Amino acid sequence: MTQTTPLPTPRLGEPYLLTPGPLTTAYSTKEAMLKDWGSWDADFRAMTKSLCNQLVALAGDTKGEFVCVPMQGSGSFSVEAMLGTFIPWDGKVLVLANGAYGLRAAETMKYLGRGYTLIDKGDYMPPRGDEVAAALDADPDITHVIVIHCETSSGILNPVAEISEAVYAKGRKLLIDSMSAFGALPLDVNEIRYEAMVSSANKCIEGVPGFGFVIARRSELENAKGNSHSLALDIHAQWAYLEKTGQWRYTPPTHVVAAFLEALRLHAEEGGVAGRGARYTRNRDVMVEGMRELGFETLLKDRWLSPIIVTFFCPADPNFVFNDFYEKMKQKGFIIYPGKLTVVDSFRVGCIGRMDEHVMRNVVQAAKEALAEMGVTSAAPPAAAIAERAKLAA
Ligand SMILES: *Cc1c(COP(=O)(O)O)cnc(C)c1O
Repeated sequence: MTQTTPLPTPRLGEPYLLTPGPLTTAYSTKEAMLKDWGSWDADFRAMTKSLCNQLVALAGDTKGEFVCVPMQGSGSFSVEAMLGTFIPWDGKVLVLANGAYGLRAAETMKYLGRGYTLIDKGDYMPPRGDEVAAALDADPDITHVIVIHCETSSGILNPVAEISEAVYAKGRKLLIDSMSAFGALPLDVNEIRYEAMVSSANKCIEGVPGFGFVIARRSELENAKGNSHSLALDIHAQWAYLEKTGQWRYTPPTHVVAAFLEALRLHAEEGGVAGRGARYTRNRDVMVEGMRELGFETLLKDRWLSPIIVTFFCPADPNFVFNDFYEKMKQKGFIIYPGKLTVVDSFRVGCIGRMDEHVMRNVVQAAKEALAEMGVTSAAPPAAAIAERAKLAA
């Protein structure tokens, strides 16, 4: 799907956020926050219900087998809530990490004081189905596996379908952190088996920050009563209260919910997950092609590149200083994101948020001008970066 009319700019003079959430939102989404709501009022209860129904529908559930439970806080609060609620005290989790968010899930397990083991693939190597199967064979105590759908620290799109097959073939259960992918990449419960997944308001649905949500198999949630270590982060208790009263247990982020409903309306208008995913894919393709023409190289081979965020190596040219590049990009209207690789210098450019290929062409133009102003003649990465990338399996 090619967009021909440019999306309107977020607001005159406001930079675009090329970051993976908070991100650039539509004007109407911001405008939806101009009204105050009573959290107990029937109007707000209806808004919560609509939000949950729409999210369950986005996950492809038509049989009423899945439920959606919103949770106050940033995305990490919901990850912690999901892990604390679905992992029983005598359970054990296999954490699949290939970046900061996988490692954060492992750290969360440490705080929860429950059993876990870690496969750490480093900065960006994908965990594969066969190694998950081998790890599950080797440790019969493992009850659950958690995988990051799009590992936002490198932008790698992990093979969740392959991992789900391996997990259920071994009779274990899968939890997914789809924070930065849900709403743009399919995670249909009819196609990929899992017990629960988590995402948040300020990623691919293009809402503002303030809450996350867990979409879980109803039977699994019913069995999770009493598991949680935390009063406020108990997904079962939140769900039970919502079912009984239609209200969130504690103060909900009312304005954020109102904005999110407008964001969901725009999401549906764009063609749902397929439409949103197509726009982001086009954003990525236009931006990556333009950056490669300037000499920049991506960390990942095309196969693993997500349409969410892309990591580029910093140029080897000694005139390239990331902080200067960042400031120049900001002056030109674009906030980019520093890289998170441990071995070589990098930076990231997000493809998500209220922007389209026209904006991405301007991003490339801004990068070109910034390089020229810095006196950088080649954007080619150092040899060490290329050697690092060569380790990435085909
Ligand atoms: C954004 C994100 C989170 C949550 O981060 P917060 O800063 O707590 O919102 C978790 N996992 C992934 C993969 C993410 O992209």
